[in-house]
Amino acid sequence: MRAKLVAGNWKMNGSLASNQALLEAVIPALAPLARARFAVCVPFPYLAQVAQALHGSNVALGAQDVCQFEAGAYTGGVSGAMLADLGCRYVIVGHSERRTVFGESDEIVALKFAQAVKHRLTPILCVGETLAERESGVTETVVARQLDAVVERCGLRALAQCVLAYEPVWAIGTGKNATPGQAQAVHAYIRARLAAADRRLADELAILYGGSVKAANAGELFAMPDVDGGLIGGASLAAGEFIAICRAALAAQETVTAKA
Ligand code: PEP
Repeated sequence: MRAKLVAGNWKMNGSLASNQALLEAVIPALAPLARARFAVCVPFPYLAQVAQALHGSNVALGAQDVCQFEAGAYTGGVSGAMLADLGCRYVIVGHSERRTVFGESDEIVALKFAQAVKHRLTPILCVGETLAERESGVTETVVARQLDAVVERCGLRALAQCVLAYEPVWAIGTGKNATPGQAQAVHAYIRARLAAADRRLADELAILYGGSVKAANAGELFAMPDVDGGLIGGASLAAGEFIAICRAALAAQETVTAKA
């Protein structure tokens, strides 16, 4: 059975003081929530601070990006080895903001994925279509192309070491989430496509939904059979919202467990 996962993506937000205040609220509130999994993906400068704060808790540490190169003369780069050294368990790869604002191609995303896997980090691989692509009816084509780039470079089995996140670009930071039905349709498409190649891998793969998830809509999204949790941007910065989203994931998990 797939355990629900909620991962916060703090993006380029935070300060030593605000991180501490947020974690002081979040860590004890999530402590009793066994069975679901939680993580926060934080800016590079705060990894050490957050690693220390999360020590001994049930919240895992993640980064938001990794360099596609191993080591050396790549000014500003942060390697997979460095993230592992700092205690990261997860790293977001191919977030739409990296793809669009920083011009990361499918090929670069695949190289980053390879670095994450090499250093035993769990990549949270983001895929998703723009509004224009959805309106042109090519959502599945786009998502398949983004996935295939990783499979071609790293092999299908490498996906067994990752978490996928379906994040429609038009829903990220816009306040406009995909409906549970829209999310479920794309998640089911991804799972069926992978199942055609490897059923077990597809059954075990966690596929998160991301895009304006809030306390108010998390429950209905997480209730979808192929939605295994969420990648949470803006709402992960507000302790009360993030805690409520994590509780919704646990409630959805308990419903699935009761049915099994
Ligand atoms: C994200 O950053 O991955 C995201 C889904 O953002 P938001 O929740 O703010 O839409």
